Amino acid sequence: MTIRLFDTMAGTARELVPIEPGHVRVYSCGPTVYGPAHIGNFRSFLFADLLVRYLRYRGLRVTWVMNVTDIDDRIIKGARAEATSIGELSERYREMLVSDMEAVGIAMPDFMPKATENIPQMVELIQKLLDGGHAYRTDDGSIFFRIASWPEYGRLARLDPEGMRVGERVEADDYAKDDVRDFALWKGPKPDEPRWETSIGPGRPGWHIECSAMSMRYLGPSFDIHTGGVDLIFPHHTDEIAQSEAATGQRFVAYWLHNAFLQMGGQKMAKSVGNIERVGEIIDRGISARALRLALISANYRMALSFGEDSLQAASSAVDRLDALFAALATYRCDCPDDATLAGLLDGTKTAFETALDDDLNISPALAALFDLVRELNRRVDVRALSTADTARAAAFIRDLDRVLGIAPVEEAALEPDLQKLLDERAEARAARDWAGSDRLRVALAARGVLVEDTRDGQRWRRAD
Ligand code: AMP
Ligand code: ZN
Repeated sequence: MTIRLFDTMAGTARELVPIEPGHVRVYSCGPTVYGPAHIGNFRSFLFADLLVRYLRYRGLRVTWVMNVTDIDDRIIKGARAEATSIGELSERYREMLVSDMEAVGIAMPDFMPKATENIPQMVELIQKLLDGGHAYRTDDGSIFFRIASWPEYGRLARLDPEGMRVGERVEADDYAKDDVRDFALWKGPKPDEPRWETSIGPGRPGWHIECSAMSMRYLGPSFDIHTGGVDLIFPHHTDEIAQSEAATGQRFVAYWLHNAFLQMGGQKMAKSVGNIERVGEIIDRGISARALRLALISANYRMALSFGEDSLQAASSAVDRLDALFAALATYRCDCPDDATLAGLLDGTKTAFETALDDDLNISPALAALFDLVRELNRRVDVRALSTADTARAAAFIRDLDRVLGIAPVEEAALEPDLQKLLDERAEARAARDWAGSDRLRVALAARGVLVEDTRDGQRWRRAD
């Protein structure tokens, strides 16, 4: 087994060789919880989720950390505007984030640390940088990283180290510093801002130091994979590398993975552009969360993905096809011999699925292999080429692949005994051609949330949504 991942630092795909054999440590930049996350953010989280699910499917142990940035200029502004505390505001949006993550089936990270709960770790890191001559204080109590002390600065983003810093997301220019390129590790106290009293003085952390401190706390000074959107390559990840490696003297991250943007109307989905949609809004429109999930993972993470009604429709009909197959496999009964070619069909699908995902999570051919199988199984159901036992094998096979995809219908729990009794009575009524009795039982079952349909293989039931 060889999994190759495109490493931004190397500029090429590299074979994944975990630092600790069999155990992959992954850190993903999570959201800043100043408002509800949009589905562009979710493309980034779902890419990390797909990566983690696939590594686990491949038998690797994974420790996955995703941070929550709960202190930032925008949070301070938002809390002030609402006359509430930053704690209340950020917690509200963190809870919304977690419920949206659950809705779209993200395997919950092993740790989701909040920045404000890791201030001592940040202070310790900054102290190391001060001691090592990589950081300096300014008159207002801020502390900056000295880029001139770190010759390797900017390799990830292929920057000319002499070049100017551009596109700084969190402006720090109102703090005096020695060199325009230097970035804030710690922001000195301001009268109307939250502050922490610490051994390096009062103030609050800069954004970049948060991720270095939280990743190293849970994953150690040197870990395998760091993920985020391409907009984070510079300055965020560039600064994380400089401050982490300057503090520890060790290579910070072995593989840097960056997802391309989700676009809508030809532009990056962003709050500032005004073209955002949220998980909750889409589900409220009646789109299934599984269809939304599929729409957001259906292109390789390094390719721009454009989102719109068409992509949602395509994903919805794909999920419907999967649901219909599962329903058909569940009710199919045939006293036929086992299908001698089924094992070969499943093996071929598995090979195609894994070969695609091993190649930098190339999801499109993996999905194509799955949906080719869905079509072929439907055909075999129609021509009654499968035995009853074959259908269980086929369903179990797809469920196994779905550990990676997370788009199959949830397995129906068996019916409660009293409901099963009604269903059995209805089967008897139909066998006795008692149509009135059968209809009465159908209505009784529907009233209890169980919808019954009659098929060639007998009754098929599902629970109402
Ligand atoms: P933020 O809350 O802005 O720090 O963003 C959280 C994550 O979402 C980061 O990894 C961003 O790179 C990513 N992100 C933001 N907008 C998009 C988008 N339109 N498409 C894909 N990823 C995005
Ligand atoms: Zn980060």
